[in-house]
Amino acid sequence: MKVRTFIVGCALVLALLVFAQHRPDSVSVSAFHEVIDLTHAINAQVPTYELSGKPAFQATTVASIDKDGYFAREISLPEHFGTHLDAPAHFAHGLWTVDQIPPERFVAPLIVLDVRAGATSNADYQVSIEDIARWEQSHGQIPPHAVVVAYTGWEARWNSVKDYRNADDKGVMHFPGYSLEAAKFLVEARNALGLGIDTLSIDYGPSKDFPVHQYTLGHSLYHLENVANLDHTPSTGATVVVAPMKLEGGSGSPVRIFALVR
Ligand SMILES: [Zn+2]
Repeated sequence: MKVRTFIVGCALVLALLVFAQHRPDSVSVSAFHEVIDLTHAINAQVPTYELSGKPAFQATTVASIDKDGYFAREISLPEHFGTHLDAPAHFAHGLWTVDQIPPERFVAPLIVLDVRAGATSNADYQVSIEDIARWEQSHGQIPPHAVVVAYTGWEARWNSVKDYRNADDKGVMHFPGYSLEAAKFLVEARNALGLGIDTLSIDYGPSKDFPVHQYTLGHSLYHLENVANLDHTPSTGATVVVAPMKLEGGSGSPVRIFALVR
């Protein structure tokens, strides 16, 4: 081996030893100005719509590096858990299950409707046509085939199951959702592909018959619920990437959502 090759080889080995165990620094590696993760982490503390005796999320370590040479877990969780997607089949017979939604519907213009002004003082707030009109006065008409996400500010309660579900003495929950009129307008007049919100449900907490679910899923839109990090997501101009698990026959799925900001 030539001396120079040997020295270069030694330098590479040294570099490997120094850097191999390190996580990469979070330097910008993206072509975008910013990539915002609109997803809550999945763990046993995640607030759920239904309450049951046993924890909804369970993770069991089935292999560890010390014992087996590699680390792996087995997990169990509901389809509608954490930041998740409702497929049309969640409320309508014969419509798309989560694996059947065409992938081109998962990349779209992202519209963030800031409705905190109404939702902060009224837990039962429902996104209105006026909210949409106000947004359009500032930003222009919502483009067709967009994903529209309501920013209610409810995320501030995420770390408390009690505050996030906000159930009263009778067990009726109180958190903001969409009015049926606003949802109909976004479907019929603005051709939205999906609706999202930073609460447990697109229908507001006290709803018993879920009219918005019935209507929008029945029109083959999908929902994104428990969306995160809307506080620094632009109102318009970003592209959303929605990536649910491809669960065959699934009514929905935990989803990873990114806002790509140019
Ligand atoms: Zn759901």
